[in-house]
Amino acid sequence: MENMSGQTLASPAVLILLGPPGAGKGTQARMLEERFGLVQLSTGDLLRAAVGAGTPAGLAAKAVMEAGGLVSDEIVLAILKDRMAGPDVAKGIILDGFPRTDGQAGALDALLAEAGQRVTAAISLEVDDAAMIARVAGRYTCAGCGEGYHDEFKQPRAEGVCDKCGGTAFKRRSDDNAETARARLEAYHAQTAPLIAHYERAGVLERIDAMGDIDAIAGALGQIVARVSV
Ligand SMILES: [Zn+2]
Repeated sequence: MENMSGQTLASPAVLILLGPPGAGKGTQARMLEERFGLVQLSTGDLLRAAVGAGTPAGLAAKAVMEAGGLVSDEIVLAILKDRMAGPDVAKGIILDGFPRTDGQAGALDALLAEAGQRVTAAISLEVDDAAMIARVAGRYTCAGCGEGYHDEFKQPRAEGVCDKCGGTAFKRRSDDNAETARARLEAYHAQTAPLIAHYERAGVLERIDAMGDIDAIAGALGQIVARVSV
C-alpha cells in the first residue's frame, strides 16, 4: 500500500463517510460539521440546490429527472464541482451518497485531481451485523405519542405502559424486523465493498468501530479528521 503519511493534505478536506443504516452516520456527520466547520453534501441536496439555482448542470439534471431518467455521473460531478466552489465549504465537505460505485470514486478522484485535491479520508463506520440486526429488530413505539422503545435496551418503566403519555398501545414498523435489517446490511456491504477496496488502495481508508456509544464514536471520528486534515 502506498504510504501517504507525512504528506500535507490539500485543503479543503474531502471526507467520505460510509456506514450502514442504523450506524449513526447522520448524527456523526452533524458532529463533524459543528466541530470542524465542514458541510455535508448529499446527492439529493446537491441536485435539488442546482436545479433550484438553475445552473447549467442543474438544468441538465432537471431535464433528465423530468424525463424519468437517472442523472448521469458526469452531471452529478459537474454539480459537485460547482458546489465545491462555494465559500461556505471552504473548510471542507462530507460526501453522503456519492460516490456509490468504484467508477464514481475514480471519477471523483479525477475531478479532485484537476483542482490539486484528493479525498482526504474515506471513513467506514464498522458495525457488528448480528448486533445491528438485534437493535433494529427490537424497536417499537408508543402508538399514542411516538416515544421509542426497545425490547432489550429500553422497556417502559411499567410494563406495557408508555412512560411519556401513559398509553398502552404500541406499534412496530413492519420493516423493523430481523430479515429486513439483514437484507439492508447485506445490500450495504455489497454496495460498499468496491468503495472500501478503492479507498484502501488509495491509502485513505479509515475504519471506526461504530458499535460503541455516540460520544465514543464521535471522539474517534474527530481524532481521525483532525489527524488527516492537518
Ligand atoms: Zn406514549
